[in-house]
Amino acid sequence: MKIIPFTLFIATCSLTIASEVRYDNFTLYRLIPKSLSEVNILTDLETSHLGGYDFWTHPKDVGVSVDVLVSPDKKSSIKDMMNSNNIQYEVVIENVQEKIEEEAKLNEANFKGGKVGFSWTSYARIDQIYDWLIMLSSQYPRIVTVIEGGRTSEGRRILGVKLSFQPGNERRGVWLDSLIHAREWIAGATTTFILNELLTSTDPGVREVADNHDWYIFPVINPDGYEYTHTTNRLWRKTRKQYGVVCYGADPNRNWGFRWNTGGSSSQPCSDTYAGPNSFSEIETDTLSRYLRSIGQNIVAYISFHSYSQMILLPYGHTARHLDNYNQVRGIGLRGAQSLAKRYGTQYVVGNVAETIYVATGSSMDWVKDTLKVPVALTYELRDKGNNGFLLPADQIIPSGLETLDSLVTILLQTDRLLLNRNRTVV
Ligand SMILES: [Zn+2]
Repeated sequence: MKIIPFTLFIATCSLTIASEVRYDNFTLYRLIPKSLSEVNILTDLETSHLGGYDFWTHPKDVGVSVDVLVSPDKKSSIKDMMNSNNIQYEVVIENVQEKIEEEAKLNEANFKGGKVGFSWTSYARIDQIYDWLIMLSSQYPRIVTVIEGGRTSEGRRILGVKLSFQPGNERRGVWLDSLIHAREWIAGATTTFILNELLTSTDPGVREVADNHDWYIFPVINPDGYEYTHTTNRLWRKTRKQYGVVCYGADPNRNWGFRWNTGGSSSQPCSDTYAGPNSFSEIETDTLSRYLRSIGQNIVAYISFHSYSQMILLPYGHTARHLDNYNQVRGIGLRGAQSLAKRYGTQYVVGNVAETIYVATGSSMDWVKDTLKVPVALTYELRDKGNNGFLLPADQIIPSGLETLDSLVTILLQTDRLLLNRNRTVV
C-alpha cells in the first residue's frame, strides 16, 4: 500500500469539548435468546423505547445474539430480567467510556500532530477528510474532481470525489458512500482507504476495476453527525436537525422516499431510528437524492458502507421476498464474501435486509434500487461481530480496508459480466 503524503493538515477545528456526553460505566451486554419467547421478551424491551437501553444489534431469531448498551442505573433491572427469564448473557465491554477515551487519545494525537498524515492508523475528522479530497484533486488533476453531493442542516457541504481514469466509462459509474450513520467510523475509514488504493494500487485486479469505471465516492454523507461524534457524543447516529425542544436528528437511513416509515423505523423524534416528519425531511437526504438522480442513469453499482455485523446486504428492507434481480445480485454478493474471506478468514453473511437483519424502511439503498433501477445495489455492514461494536480499534482499519477491497474487486468484475450478459450498452 502506497500512502499519499499528507501535509495539509491544519487544525481548523477546536478540540475543546463543550458538553461531552459520557458513558461512564455503561456496559455492553450480549444476550443470546434460546427460544422464541426469549426473542419476544427482547423485542418488547427494544420496542418499549425505555431510556437506558441502546440496542446496537436487534432481536431477530433464536440463537442470534443481541448487543445492548445499558446505562449504569438500568444494569440491575436488565440483569434481573435476564436471570428471571433464564436468558443467557455476557459482558462484552464493561465500561464503554474507557474504550471511547482510548480511541479519542489516539485520534487527538494524530489530529494535533498533523504529520502522521492520512495513514489509516486513526480515525480522521471531517475537515481532515475534506482537505485530503481537495489535495487529491490537485495531486491527480486529470483523474480526481471534487464534487458536492449536497448540504447539511448545519451548513456543511457533502463533499466527495469523482475519479475518471480514462474516457469511455461514463455509463459505468460506481457509487461508494459511508457514514450516513455517524458513529460507524470504520465505514468512512474503509472508504477513504479504498479511494487511496484506487489511485495508487498496482494490483492487476484493482487496476482493472479502477480504470474501467467512473467513481463517485462520498466518505461522509452525514458530516454534521460525524463531527458531533468527535466533539460531543461518540455514539451519535442521526443528523443534527432540531426537532421540538429536546430532540435532535432523524435517522438519515430511514428517511428516503421508498416505503418510507412503513416498518423498522420510529415516529418518535428522540428515537435513534426516527424516520423524520416526512420522507426527505433531512436536507442531507434531500440534496443527495437529487444529486443521485442527476447521475442515476450512469450508475451500475451503488455500494453503501455501514458497521457492524459483517454482512453484505441486498435490497429490500420492507420485505423478505426476493424482488428484482435478487438471485443475480445475491450470487455476486456471495462471490464478494468469498473473496473477502480469503485474506484473513473474515466471514460475512449475504442476504436481503429484511430476512438477514430486520425490517427497515426508508434506506438509501432501497430508494436507489427502486428509483434509479441500479443493477447492483449493496450495503456492507463491516467489522466486527460485536466484540468492539462501533468502537472498532483503529489498528483494524487497514485489514478491514484490504479485505473489503478484495471483495469489491470481485463484485465489480461480476457486475461487469452481468451487464455484458444483459447486452446493456457498455461502451
Ligand atoms: Zn448504519
